[in-house]
Amino acid sequence: MPVSVSSAASAPAICPPLPVLGRDVTVPLVTGGEAVYAALDYAASAPALQRVWDDVAAYAPYYGSVHRGAGYLSQLSTDLFEKARATVAGFLDCRADDQVVFTRSTTDSLNLLAGALPAGCRVFVFETEHHAALLPWPEDAVTWLDAPRSPGEAVAALERALADRDPYGPALVCVTGASNVTGELWPVRELAAAAHAHGARIVLDAAQLAPHRPVSVRDLDVDWVAFSGHKLYAPFGAGVLAGRADWLGAAEPYLAGGGASRRVARRADGGVEVEWHDGAARHEAGSPNVIGAHAVASACQALTEAGFESLVAREEYLLRKVREGLAGLPQVRVLSLFGEDAPRVGVLSFVVDGWNGSHFAAALSAEYGIGVRDGLFCAHPLLRTLLDGAAGTSGTSQECGTPGTAGAVRVSFGAGTPEEHVDRFLRATRELLGNGSRWSYRTEGGRCVPVPGPAA
Ligand code: PLP
Repeated sequence: MPVSVSSAASAPAICPPLPVLGRDVTVPLVTGGEAVYAALDYAASAPALQRVWDDVAAYAPYYGSVHRGAGYLSQLSTDLFEKARATVAGFLDCRADDQVVFTRSTTDSLNLLAGALPAGCRVFVFETEHHAALLPWPEDAVTWLDAPRSPGEAVAALERALADRDPYGPALVCVTGASNVTGELWPVRELAAAAHAHGARIVLDAAQLAPHRPVSVRDLDVDWVAFSGHKLYAPFGAGVLAGRADWLGAAEPYLAGGGASRRVARRADGGVEVEWHDGAARHEAGSPNVIGAHAVASACQALTEAGFESLVAREEYLLRKVREGLAGLPQVRVLSLFGEDAPRVGVLSFVVDGWNGSHFAAALSAEYGIGVRDGLFCAHPLLRTLLDGAAGTSGTSQECGTPGTAGAVRVSFGAGTPEEHVDRFLRATRELLGNGSRWSYRTEGGRCVPVPGPAA
């Protein structure tokens, strides 16, 4: 049921947060007492939706081996696993002949696809990507494109690179839907059109997009989509690669082993003869993670039922609040590739003049019970571009953390975030900037830690 928010005069009616695990967990503060933990690190891993947990718990007693057993629970589990595939295909609005492969994560999915590139395939990727999208490709096949400063520039740069490729053979573009650093949305539909116009395929890294926006494979016209369950409120070790069957079917299995093999025999000459499965099973060797797949499917259903329209409205309200709050603090610089007005999801990174990011994040945690992330967010080339000349990266009066390794602070939130967490973050930020931290910190293993730490 929609509720009214009272903190801003023009606040719209927004839906309440979706119930997540850990919403009542309290953590000790170094300054004494406790606070309800404010999880503002959804971009790294989001808390499990209560609904996902309940669905997993309801299934757990019926858990059985998938695709192997003749027993009733094995059949039930197999059915659940295959239904999860269908649910994910529906969530992503896949084409009828697309495949949904369950993996461990986005990283795993993109590595799987990297092993399925046809001979001579070139890969194009912007240097602004997460390392999971930058690194899986063979070094002699990949071209890194410079950081674009607008969505239009990104499309133009990709078109140029694809048109100029020599030889003009198979190509794959890998692009994120939303940046894990700035939260900015990328022009996926336009990039897909550019890729296809130049005879290339495109894979969408939806690790940050899928938890925040509906993803339609058909509408975006992407060839594959990868995402992680643990960022989609389903932290049970499963991820997804969904899309075109042809490259996947022609590739060697990602893992060799049972489940991927239809027939195995020993040849007369002592060698081994293997007939591999087609379809998703080809790349799912070993015992499948049925609980993980079920959890992902449950999250897909929960988000669909909650409705992205109201989830996005709520997230944008919180995002506006954070942005307006930080805009009033001259020491804070929010990082952006595409500019102030670029549309973005609830992920925002910033640097604070006079503070090492690690120190700022440690103080938010130790003194206010707020969990954010600091550093370079597995996107080193992007951070180097964004931090060039930024405050908060060199020696300062508030220095704590290894010099030269300082990065930014990232706050990220989603469907389970109460408004109070955002309010507390803004209040804490104002207090830290106004009065400094109330505790001592020192560098340990390159990170800033409170001394002494909170009483256990
Ligand atoms: N892509 C993006 C945009 C990400 O933000 C992340 C993780 O932060 C990944 C890929 C890798 O996801 P995972 O660690 O779940 O494989």
